[in-house]
Amino acid sequence: MFLSGKRALITGSTSGIGLAIARALKAEGAEVILNGFGDEGVIADVCGELDARHIPADLTSVAGVEELMAAAGPVDVLVNNAGMQHVAPVEEFPAEKWEMIIALNLSAAFHTARLAVPHMKTAGWGRIINTASAHSLAASPFKSAYVSAKHGIAGLTKTLALELAPFNITANCISPGYVWTPLVENQIPDTMKARGMTREQVMNDILLAKQPTKKFVQVEEVGAMAVFLCRDEAQNINGANWSVDGGWTAE
Ligand code: NAD
Repeated sequence: MFLSGKRALITGSTSGIGLAIARALKAEGAEVILNGFGDEGVIADVCGELDARHIPADLTSVAGVEELMAAAGPVDVLVNNAGMQHVAPVEEFPAEKWEMIIALNLSAAFHTARLAVPHMKTAGWGRIINTASAHSLAASPFKSAYVSAKHGIAGLTKTLALELAPFNITANCISPGYVWTPLVENQIPDTMKARGMTREQVMNDILLAKQPTKKFVQVEEVGAMAVFLCRDEAQNINGANWSVDGGWTAE
């Protein structure tokens, strides 16, 4: 239980990857704080399971991030994981979707970090873990906002790593390939439309075609990586971008 006494805030942790990271950090003794939206009953059950607080702030606005950080209090482990996707050709990409994706998938991580770092510096220990994506390293068509935000968070992570290294604070990205979560499931209809494909073709020729393993990544695998990055053995892993993508970006 090496994270006993440490508080971890995981944004976007009411489902998918964020929830798996919360479960994994809790299993190592951390107090976890959940954020995100969803069915109230399901969220209440998860809070019970993890003995966790849930702060349902909308992180697409600076005010929402500030509300989250004020309610959370000092955090030792910050996991910037909340994210959304939209799939459309660039000339049809709705401007408001671009703004929302940049705000949530990129800007929110800057705002949480700037508010979390003072306590980490005082404590002389901290971990910032950003759920980036294989799309922080490689692009796919029709995902202009997502790919831009994810490349951006990889750059933000490196900057944080350089600035915070003297204070025993590390900042790293975890970059999954395709993980079967609502975020992936929900993009299938728009991908079918953008590419003129059937659901089966999108699954096999677009999603799994990227991953040499021909398998989706499991959320628990991402959770295990987050735990490792919190360990003392990871104190010299800083500014790195950890691919968990079945070999996608090795190509
Ligand atoms: P998900 O849809 O299961 O989870 C997204 C989480 O973000 C949910 O908890 C949701 O409530 C929350 N959220 C959405 N809008 C929000 C907002 N405005 N404010 C606060 N929270 C909000 O998706 P996921 O696949 O688990 O995605 C988690 C992260 O992993 C995202 O950053 C995503 O880009 C990244 N990622 C996912 C995959 C994948 O294949 N699923 C691959 C690479 C990276």
